[in-house]
Amino acid sequence: MTLPRTVYLETMGCQMNALDSELVMGELLSRGFRPTDDLDAAELVILNTCSVRQHAEDKVYSRLGHLKSVRGRRPDQVVAVIGCMAERDGDGLLAKMPHVDILCGPGELHRLPGLLDDVRDRRGPAVALSGRLRAHSTPVRHAGAHEDLEALDSGRVFNLSSHVDTPKIFGRHQAYVRITRGCNKYCSFCVVPYTRGPEAHRPPEQIVAEVRRLAQAGVMEVTLLGQTVNHYHYREPGRPSTSFAELLRRVHDEVPELPRLRFVTSYPRDFTDEALAVMAESPRICRYLHIPAQSGSNAVLKRMNRGYTVEEYRRLLDRARAMMPDICIAGDMIVGFCGETEADFRQSLDLLRYARYKNCFIFKYSPRPGTHADERLSDDVPEEVKRRRNNDMLAVQAEINLAGHRAMMDSVIDVLVEGRSKRALKMQESEQSRGEEVDPTVRGPGQLVGRTSGDQIVVFDGDSELIGRFARVRIVAATPYTLHGTLEGPASEPVSAALARQRGIPLAVLGA
Ligand code: SF4
Repeated sequence: MTLPRTVYLETMGCQMNALDSELVMGELLSRGFRPTDDLDAAELVILNTCSVRQHAEDKVYSRLGHLKSVRGRRPDQVVAVIGCMAERDGDGLLAKMPHVDILCGPGELHRLPGLLDDVRDRRGPAVALSGRLRAHSTPVRHAGAHEDLEALDSGRVFNLSSHVDTPKIFGRHQAYVRITRGCNKYCSFCVVPYTRGPEAHRPPEQIVAEVRRLAQAGVMEVTLLGQTVNHYHYREPGRPSTSFAELLRRVHDEVPELPRLRFVTSYPRDFTDEALAVMAESPRICRYLHIPAQSGSNAVLKRMNRGYTVEEYRRLLDRARAMMPDICIAGDMIVGFCGETEADFRQSLDLLRYARYKNCFIFKYSPRPGTHADERLSDDVPEEVKRRRNNDMLAVQAEINLAGHRAMMDSVIDVLVEGRSKRALKMQESEQSRGEEVDPTVRGPGQLVGRTSGDQIVVFDGDSELIGRFARVRIVAATPYTLHGTLEGPASEPVSAALARQRGIPLAVLGA
């Protein structure tokens, strides 16, 4: 069998998976593969999977079911399942889907090129798993091109502009940079410590160098990634250690050509005043924090093994807002966790109102196999109660969103223009479906979408030449999830609190 040359890569789940996909695709492009959007015609199909919720796993099984029917017509098509679901469900997945050729966990992605070589002779599935979830793990074949996982990050493709034909994979103006892998927290509901393994921190010099190369390649906004990003701490014998606050300062100060720097996701217990102070003093660090609370009840937080109380969480919000009145804060909440009472749920709603999140990701609890909660706690909140609490919480958060957005009316704000809005893209698609010729690179007015320093989405009419640049927009209408604006003109620099003060923009309009 010859090596496939076209690759279809689909990513489910979090930003960490998005980054893994970019790195894997970069590696494949450098080996002569060409990306395709055609799942059936692709010679190599890679599904980068997520195990955080059952729904995400169901989607993968549905995709694999379809690929089983394709296999009849395309016996040479190679199917690879990578990411958290490969790690969590490895043996079970192969038993249910024997047409899967490659299984590769998120901690073994540097072995993927070697697995592709292995699969050429079709001696059965090529497998690389860390085996943290199974004592009887499938054997790992060590055949990678990279020495270790760190090399996958360090070896990324920087010349993003040469990959304009793969816009789904490479954002040309925004990029993720991993600073920490894995997680040590073992929240009782979460599968991540088992699928991605224990925390490992990357050397600060490599992080700074990667951010610099991205900025020099034209990236306008870098998001530092870690499952618990603010727990970053690099130690090496014989060298001074580097804390998260120190890393943030280094990246900000040593890469002055980068207009915007963000980081996600923060863990409440780990946020130091030093890190908040660095944010407050650094004009190019976005005024945005994503700090999941998960519940507003101390009893539930304890069962979740989160390691903080609601009071401590509220004090963190107070500290952040005292130091940065313009900060936008996002949260995560789980409803219907094991043993959650109506009183517990009302406390979560109270926390939601106190936090005034600029947005909150709300999830109904679903047990994940292998976790403490699945094995030791009872999933005792009925589905209809979970659904009702989910809807109630969404309604409260929508009110908070709308109030925050309405407070921004008539303010002028700088946004990084990300691209055409979904509405504009839909119009373009319908023109194409009517057979009208559409040139996607055409310069001209249309609806654009941009993002504020606080991570708010703004849509406005403007020339597509603005994509990848900063624009100054006046907010003229607000819905719970979107701000609508009119273009005031291009902006040469991002809005920070200091710049906002200089320009007389009320700080309140920048925060939720
Ligand atoms: S901090 Fe908790 S929820 Fe977040 S990845 Fe780690 S175990 Fe999962």
